[in-house]
Amino acid sequence: LYNQVQDLKGNIRVYCRVRPFLPRQSSSMSTVGHIDDGNIMIITPSKYGKGHKSFSFNKVFGPFATQEEVFSDTQPLIRSVLDGYNVCIFAYGQTGAGKTYTMSGPKELTEESFGVNYRALNDLFHISKQRKETFCYEIAVQMIEIYNEQVRDLLTNDGPQKRLDIHNSSQKGLAVPNANLVPVTSTTEVIELMNIGQKNRAVSATAMNDRSSRSHSCLTIHVQGRDLASGAVLRGCMHLVDLAGSERVNKSEAKGDRLKEAQHINKSLSALGDVISALAQKSSHIPYRNSKLTQLLQDSLGGQAKTLMFVHISPEADAISETLSTLKFAERVASV
Ligand code: ADP
Ligand code: MG
Repeated sequence: LYNQVQDLKGNIRVYCRVRPFLPRQSSSMSTVGHIDDGNIMIITPSKYGKGHKSFSFNKVFGPFATQEEVFSDTQPLIRSVLDGYNVCIFAYGQTGAGKTYTMSGPKELTEESFGVNYRALNDLFHISKQRKETFCYEIAVQMIEIYNEQVRDLLTNDGPQKRLDIHNSSQKGLAVPNANLVPVTSTTEVIELMNIGQKNRAVSATAMNDRSSRSHSCLTIHVQGRDLASGAVLRGCMHLVDLAGSERVNKSEAKGDRLKEAQHINKSLSALGDVISALAQKSSHIPYRNSKLTQLLQDSLGGQAKTLMFVHISPEADAISETLSTLKFAERVASV
């Protein structure tokens, strides 16, 4: 494990995942051509200007990759949290490309379809049990949403959620100290919490017309481990972030609230891209202050922390321009 962790350290990894055509879609031609381990070829349909373009990532998952396969390539990163590392995992892509599927799973969950969030916690419980002779671990979670640059708690039962502040977590230990921090010991508890979180997101979604695709949601797993022999305590945390849809809104239809949302999303996704690419280039100034999202993650991006970005694309012809801009964004953050 140590060697694997060393490999991942300070590394920004980018995985690309292609959504399959959905059951009721007329399966037109896919824009996704040849895929091998780390490469993907995109074919532009003729009406959008015929052509081919290849992109390289640390890994490419085709439309038939299972949740389990996707998770198994993520597992070493997740386990490093138990050794005191900070980890960020992002799901990026246009609305409908499969971000929530990767992180949470589909609406009707089955054992096989659980997403990264659930599997990560399950794995952490499992390993912490295996280590119980040498370490005593405590695991707790927070779940928040960032909408229009405002932070709200998703793990609450008391109605309209108040705005929360982000702190520099290096002193206090928590970036959002006023969001509920819920200790968890079993996957049953985790499922209950995720339902609460989902419900809180859904409430705002009906009021604000599918807000879930226009906000970032972040599940943070805090791990504290005490070495039973020495008494030394180590802390790690992992942010699992389902980002707002990356699609550009049509200028002519974006007005009022919709325009404001779009501007906030645009700003925070480019701030995230800027931070990750500044880190990849080992730049001396990392622009964390430009968005709530990057402020939230400041202590978990860069330094010893490990970052994984899942970029999602849809295979349909009419998604081609979003697909290309998603892959260009991904290439930018992956470039070292
Ligand atoms: P996003 O969160 O990016 O808006 P979703 O995760 O909600 O997208 O996915 C859109 C639809 O496609 C959902 O019905 C989802 O269940 C389905 N879907 C996404 N990815 C996959 C996949 N890899 N396999 C099967 N169905 C998927
Ligand atoms: Mg979603």
